Amino acid sequence: MRLTYPRMSARRQLRRAIPQPVRQRLYDWSPSRKRRWREVPGLENAPAAASVVLTFDDGPDPSCTPQVLEALNQAGAKATFFVLGRHVAEDPGLAREMLAEGHELALHGMTHRHHDQLSLEEAEAELRDGSEAIESAIGQRPTWYRPPFGSASPELADLCVKHGLGLAYWSAWGQDWEDSSAARIAGLVRRDLSPGTIVLLHDSARYGQRDDAEATVGSIPLIAAAARKEGLELVSLSTAVSDHAA
Ligand SMILES: [Zn+2]
Repeated sequence: MRLTYPRMSARRQLRRAIPQPVRQRLYDWSPSRKRRWREVPGLENAPAAASVVLTFDDGPDPSCTPQVLEALNQAGAKATFFVLGRHVAEDPGLAREMLAEGHELALHGMTHRHHDQLSLEEAEAELRDGSEAIESAIGQRPTWYRPPFGSASPELADLCVKHGLGLAYWSAWGQDWEDSSAARIAGLVRRDLSPGTIVLLHDSARYGQRDDAEATVGSIPLIAAAARKEGLELVSLSTAVSDHAA
């Protein structure tokens, strides 16, 4: 089957959650690709002013996601989980539990690879199969996609448009893929905590350099307390974006 892609102008339809500081960094890293990143529109105006979005990549993972859900519940926080289709298919019950707790399930792909380095057919399969795995588990298609390693490309942006996905990045992280402590993770996030911040965390140790994700679980109450002190609510990405648009 021959794949058809939207024209360049269609890329402007892409919904995006790439905070301005991140876009600047992408420009700085690769000035020759400045035009390319401009074609993936920025989303500095995405999240609502009085909120922060916690996002968790790489799950669902039965050895960690339940503890993350419990910590979010105790903190009165809602979050967005960028899940992998293959792990949703392994544990659809856990995916349904995440949704039932009021969280959002978004797409990280079917498998954890550099989707920008795949053939177009393989890249499209990552988005299509991943979305279908989520839909068959929870009855809803995801509306946001975050590429593994943050590796996007204009072709992936086109595929997002084709599959009804927005492209989401982050503007703060806890570097929790490394062996770390809850205090260090929370400290790194706190440094960049401001209205509209999108925080990158992981509810699995599968693709990181650590044995488990306990430090991430421990960081949640610390991050929630810091946000509360600033008067910032912890909401899902779609809630933040729709509040902002309203
Ligand atoms: Zn990942």
